[in-house]
Amino acid sequence: MQSRIRQFGSDNYAGICPEAWAAMAEANQGHAVPYGDDPWTAQAADLIRNVFETQCEVFFVFNGTAANSLALASLCQSYHSVLCHETAHVETDECGAPEFFSNGTKILSVAGNNGKIEPAALENAATRRADIHFPKPKVVSLTQATELGTVYRPEEIRAITEVARKLGLRTHMDGARFANAVAELGVAPSEITWRAGVDVLSMGATKNGSGVGEAVIFFNRELAMEFDYRCKQAGQLASKMRFMAAPWVGMLREGAWLRHARHANEMASLLEMEIRDLDDVRILFPRQANAVFAELPQPVVDDLHGRGWRFYTFIGQGGCRLMCAWDTREEDVRDFVADLEDAFRISHLSKSA
Ligand SMILES: *Cc1c(COP(=O)(O)O)cnc(C)c1O
Repeated sequence: MQSRIRQFGSDNYAGICPEAWAAMAEANQGHAVPYGDDPWTAQAADLIRNVFETQCEVFFVFNGTAANSLALASLCQSYHSVLCHETAHVETDECGAPEFFSNGTKILSVAGNNGKIEPAALENAATRRADIHFPKPKVVSLTQATELGTVYRPEEIRAITEVARKLGLRTHMDGARFANAVAELGVAPSEITWRAGVDVLSMGATKNGSGVGEAVIFFNRELAMEFDYRCKQAGQLASKMRFMAAPWVGMLREGAWLRHARHANEMASLLEMEIRDLDDVRILFPRQANAVFAELPQPVVDDLHGRGWRFYTFIGQGGCRLMCAWDTREEDVRDFVADLEDAFRISHLSKSA
């Protein structure tokens, strides 16, 4: 089994980008006030307010599970429910943390094509029951980019938040790959968040190129009340906060976050182009961010794994997920495709033998 420098396993296989690393080194000078009252944390929050062109409330936590869970908990009472897509990270990949941190708020999943919630399905799910025995729907949570590598267009988000507003639901966005969505759509970040009716965003930095840390961004500032206490109680208030804030400064101040996301998307686009016309490859979802989902014959999957390639086969609705990162190189894509073609040749030979 070969060990490889870069993989298509996930964008969190990648290391820390130079801009985040440099800012951490800059922050590593002298003493600073702890728990977020330092200049780096203030600057990171200001840069986020610039990016979104609004006076939002910003909190930094250690990971995406905490960002989502605490954000959702702040929007709900324990007897409420959160509606999300059936493949949503909050439903399938957080070990019940949203329910735990909200003291029992129930997650209800909604089906929909390509990892997206449709407005009519949301309305159905939210109005199916209105009796005292059912957990009262209170929030819709959207993932942007979705778990299946697709991206909601601004008008799709607005259509969902319109239903939400009509039904008295708040809107949360899981933006672990928010940068990839912005890069793909070429819109202002505000157009797919608060201007489209999103109340709270969990914004990722880790998969985009930092080492650790995500932001919880309240566009609806009233909802941020006492969120700092919620973070502290959950063990999410970093003592040396400057080191969680500095990567944001490094990545936001000159636009590295979007450059890296655009690059990861381009590598996924290249990968898709290289494999989509091969016999026995079926692309499962439109490639709109930094992931390609493809169905490959099992012997070919086993062969690739045997050659040391790592990628997941259990995400979403099956198939192989090939994920590109800020540091994926064209040569990585070409090496993978060459091995894929070779694996196909071998599997055809053994079939005809
Ligand atoms: C990676 C990811 C998260 C965050 O996961 P953590 O491992 O808790 O940081 C959240 N949502 C989505 C869609 C993700 O892909």
